[in-house]
Amino acid sequence: MEKVKRVKPDTKLLLTPGPTPLPPSVSAKMAEPILHHRTHEFGAFFQQVLEDLRYVFRTRNTVLLMTASGTGGMESAAANLLSPGDGAAVISTGVFGDRWAKILRGYGLEPAVHSVEWGRAADPEGVAKFLKGIPPPKAVFLTHTDTSTGIVNDLKSLAEAVRASSDALIVVDSVSGLAGEELETDGWGLDVVVGASQKGLMCGPGLAYVSVSERAWKVADVARFPRFYFDWRTMRNSLPSKETPYTPAVNLVVAQAEALRLIRAEGLERVWRRTAELARYARSQGERLGLPLFAKDPCDILTALRLPEGLDGQKLVRTIREEEGISIAGGQEGLKGKVVRIAHMGHIRTEDVDRGFAALKKHMGSALDI
Ligand code: PMP
Repeated sequence: MEKVKRVKPDTKLLLTPGPTPLPPSVSAKMAEPILHHRTHEFGAFFQQVLEDLRYVFRTRNTVLLMTASGTGGMESAAANLLSPGDGAAVISTGVFGDRWAKILRGYGLEPAVHSVEWGRAADPEGVAKFLKGIPPPKAVFLTHTDTSTGIVNDLKSLAEAVRASSDALIVVDSVSGLAGEELETDGWGLDVVVGASQKGLMCGPGLAYVSVSERAWKVADVARFPRFYFDWRTMRNSLPSKETPYTPAVNLVVAQAEALRLIRAEGLERVWRRTAELARYARSQGERLGLPLFAKDPCDILTALRLPEGLDGQKLVRTIREEEGISIAGGQEGLKGKVVRIAHMGHIRTEDVDRGFAALKKHMGSALDI
């Protein structure tokens, strides 16, 4: 094994927008002996997870669980909802909106993409105008919180704008927003919402969750893209027997049940409020360091801060990880080296955010003269 500099494990801290730190009781579940997945014991965990996910998604729709990261859940939406030659529209506010477009192109489609200036949320009026100018799409793909820029989209208004101009399915990536940022799947009429285990849901990486409305099922039942592992119909068929079609990441399901128990005990709205408070705190800490907020429409689950010209953001992130054991995220694609992103979702607490900002201050200090 390659020798890498290691900080003591108990001082390590993840302030990245996924994976995020786990509550100790969730980590303990991941270390329990593995159950067999075709047993009543596992079935009880599986069913509980799906029921609690419906609480977090705020939906009565079917929720499917797949062993994949969030991108796998996103790809399953493209594979199950569309057919060769279909029109699809993407509203992109950053890297993760662009990911929808890349997935759709991977399936041979040519999505119409409405790209919003990075750092801003999509404006519902702009979206309505964009949709009027293209042939009616079969589905419109949206992002809840774009983790690359730290924005949150107003999904309620965007969904209304979509419905006003077409009967397209509304498909949302809430991989980073779920269980951190307000979301009303049924209340806002979202047909498909994709989430993942490793962010606000406080579990290890490896599970993707997808809620599917009746309208979306009607489309999925006759869609013609080839699919096998990610076929939602196969997943739905095995739900009555409380199992997945193939071997799931059993220990993650058991751990997710515990994390969801904690979320239900706190109450989802309280989780949203706590995350929003922590976001306000993180923004104020950024201000104290003289770092402007990158997002004009900031989300609550992470804070993206613009670094001063001339400061090497990639080196800063590396130094903080190697010297302090704290992982914060740098910028992606066009923002590489230009921003730092500090997450404050899930199990992350005020004292963790404090440690992140103290490390930032310490290692930016010489460059910034503070
Ligand atoms: N969408 C968003 C908004 C994300 O933040 C992420 C992960 N950073 C993904 C999709 C992709 O998820 P994964 O890395 O689990 O495939």
